[in-house]
Amino acid sequence: MSEMNCPKGHGAMEEKKIEKTIPFKGIEVDIVEEVFVCPVCGLAAGTVQSAGKIQLAISEGYREQTGLLTSTQIKQLRKEKGMTQANLSLVTGFGLASIKRWETGAIQTQSADKTLRSHLMGEFQENNITGNRDFSIPRILLVLTAFQTALGRAILIENDKMLFAAKYLWYADMLAKKELGRSMTGATYAHLPWGPQLNNYRDLLDEIRNADISKAEDLSDSELSIINRIAKHFPEDHMAFDASHKEPAWLETNNGELILYSWAEKLNAKIN
Ligand SMILES: [Zn+2]
Repeated sequence: MSEMNCPKGHGAMEEKKIEKTIPFKGIEVDIVEEVFVCPVCGLAAGTVQSAGKIQLAISEGYREQTGLLTSTQIKQLRKEKGMTQANLSLVTGFGLASIKRWETGAIQTQSADKTLRSHLMGEFQENNITGNRDFSIPRILLVLTAFQTALGRAILIENDKMLFAAKYLWYADMLAKKELGRSMTGATYAHLPWGPQLNNYRDLLDEIRNADISKAEDLSDSELSIINRIAKHFPEDHMAFDASHKEPAWLETNNGELILYSWAEKLNAKIN
């Protein structure tokens, strides 16, 4: 806090911390307010800066008293997990703007708090079958379409069994799981003789081609960046195909076995 003089001309005021109880959303919230007090006349004054601080203090106090994570806790837990705000947004599915607001004083709902806790406080169970995302066929089509744009050519071809498209998709899901904590499509993969492939892909091919792309959640900037990097790394189909056969995920699993997302940590291809 800076210096402040008494408006009645008594010279410098003293900085003091005052405990206060403020009614907020139906409860009494205890906060400590920092104010300037004139030692001569007792006049107390806050500053514009402290008004913002008071709001934050009320929000923190309210959340502490009602058992919600405070801004300070959200920020601290997130950093302990080595996550950026963007990472947390991706793994929870909340917008980045919401994460930013909750870390600066906005109060999250009970239900949002539960989701935040599950991801920040270790109560969250990794799903290595879906890569922590609900399976979405429209999103598979969206990701493949983004690959076609990035590669400048078609990879989803009529009557083709997605031999090559599946490799691009697999790398996108694995890299997203590794970098962002969550796959892009929630797809489950299996070890097939010609590399990693969508599990039960025969049943999915038509559904993928006919999917309604408008039903897919938009790709985030981080996801698009992953797709573009993979496309740049494997400009030709056979490159993605060959690389997938050198992956520990494929080399160390057996024919027909699921390739779990835990393999994401051991990706061999250096896609930077
Ligand atoms: Zn005074």
